[in-house]
Amino acid sequence: MGRNLRRVKLRSEQISLRLFVCMAIIILSILYISIPLILNSFQEYNKTNQVLNEITSLRALVQTANKISRERGPANKVMSSTSEEIEKNKQELADFRLVVDEQINETVSILNQAGFNSVSTQLQTDLKVKLEHARKIVDAYAEIPQSQRTSQQLDHAILTMFSVWDNGRELLNELMAQSKSKDSKMSNYFISILILTDMRDQAGRVASNVMAPITFSEKISDINRARTLQTEHQTQYLWSLVDVIQPQYMKTSDYIRLHQRVKTEFLDQGLPIIRRLLDESQNNQTYFLTGTQLTEQIVDKYTTVIDLQKYILDYSVLIATQQNKNAKQQYFFTLSISSLSLLIALFTMIYTKRKVFSPLIKAREMILGLSDTMHGPPSRQKSKHEFYTLFEAINKLKLMLKQRDLMESQLKQIANSDVLTGVSNRLALEEYINDLTAKPNALSQTCVFAIDIDHFKFVNDQYGHLVGDEVIAMVAEQLKHNVRASDLIVRYGGDEFLVVIESIQMEAAKAIAESIRLGIATQNIVVTSLGKAIQVSVSIGVAIGAESWLELLEKADQSLLKAKARGKNVVEG
Ligand code: GH3
Ligand code: MG
Repeated sequence: MGRNLRRVKLRSEQISLRLFVCMAIIILSILYISIPLILNSFQEYNKTNQVLNEITSLRALVQTANKISRERGPANKVMSSTSEEIEKNKQELADFRLVVDEQINETVSILNQAGFNSVSTQLQTDLKVKLEHARKIVDAYAEIPQSQRTSQQLDHAILTMFSVWDNGRELLNELMAQSKSKDSKMSNYFISILILTDMRDQAGRVASNVMAPITFSEKISDINRARTLQTEHQTQYLWSLVDVIQPQYMKTSDYIRLHQRVKTEFLDQGLPIIRRLLDESQNNQTYFLTGTQLTEQIVDKYTTVIDLQKYILDYSVLIATQQNKNAKQQYFFTLSISSLSLLIALFTMIYTKRKVFSPLIKAREMILGLSDTMHGPPSRQKSKHEFYTLFEAINKLKLMLKQRDLMESQLKQIANSDVLTGVSNRLALEEYINDLTAKPNALSQTCVFAIDIDHFKFVNDQYGHLVGDEVIAMVAEQLKHNVRASDLIVRYGGDEFLVVIESIQMEAAKAIAESIRLGIATQNIVVTSLGKAIQVSVSIGVAIGAESWLELLEKADQSLLKAKARGKNVVEG
């Protein structure tokens, strides 16, 4: 038996191991699916972070380049000022220089934060040095008394300011070269921003290139004319590129409106001012504007270019921020869904193992153990071939339960039967009466025969008890012969029987009783020891319907007594 239990245990361990392997496979599958998803969404999130960082850096550097470009405005104004205007314009320039310096410092910190350290260093060293140098030249020019100034000196100062911006443009190139997201779907924004930055500076240079001759009311030299025409051409060319590069989905109504304003205000109204000045120079006419007026008018016109560029910069940052936000949400969503599925799978598995499989395995062990205990160990061969299954054990138990049921009913049969005759005894009668009286009105149509063997004492005395027993058995056989199987025959006392028949009328009952009486009276009982046959008779009292069982029994007894009194071997009822 110890061996069997060990074997059952081994089998359960095997099932547990298989379950564990299945669980492990499910969990690994979930991990196999979700880890790449999580990694992908994390990478996507990182990429959008990068794009956002880079586009923010680009915007800061572009704003610096713009401001350097714009510093040429107040610088030109100072350099072309009359002695009345100069102090006011100097103050304006000084204020603007502070704005530019602040912008540079802010850009340096943004670039450092985004990891563009080399660009930031160059901005602090090269560009700042160049800017200081250009500013000195501008200031030095402003200090020269009006009478000693030449247009060449002015033009030189303007060109030095140009070179500061050129340095800024180099830094933009450097930033683009280092940018990792310039190949992403944001590349169009990067290109648009750069083109607009260039266009904006070129647009400003159109006027700056003729500023010196205009300020000195001199004829515009061929070089200056060429530089102006070239920058104008550049501006027009870059302008045409802006709209080509801009994809259709990026052309929002705001973009279209700003784009249109550049055309009507800067291209259609601003550039003709320069062309008119060129024409006036060629025709040796007096210029219709002074240097300061030119600066003021042209600056006004190209604010439209600034607005368009600002819009694209802000819009790009907005798109990058949105993409970053979406990617972040996607990442956290993927992470939560994956963790949730994993947790649910784990929970389901642990729950199923604890609440379903473990009890099942235990039940299996118990069934197998029980079956083994009851029926002995399975044969070596069966166990070897794994024939001895749970179902076999269940079948065994089923069979055992069936046998037990059969035994129980046999025992019950024995307990309820009279040993000598095989008919029911008083215990069985009691159960029967309990069931019968539970039914409403059942007693009203129930019939009872009280049957007693006549002169039985005499039989016993004359032929002995064995013959007496035979007589009792014969009477029981006659009773069985005359009533249905559903009717109840009870051996009530020594030589007394009861027959209970439900739902019967007196006439029919009496006929049955009569048939019993006649059957017994005419039956010969051969007594071998005597070598002759004897005959006995019975008296039968019949009663139908009563309020209670006792009353019915009493009625049947009274009838029996009457039958005995009438001389026996009769039916009374
Ligand atoms: P009556 O005609 O008035 O019925 O009189 P009787 O002689 O039959 O008297 P009674 O019914 O009182 O007799 C019953 C006898 O049955 C008494 C008892 O010795 C005998 N007896 C009781 N049980 C058994 C038994 O199991 N076997 C045998 N052989 N005799 C039994
Ligand atoms: Mg009797």
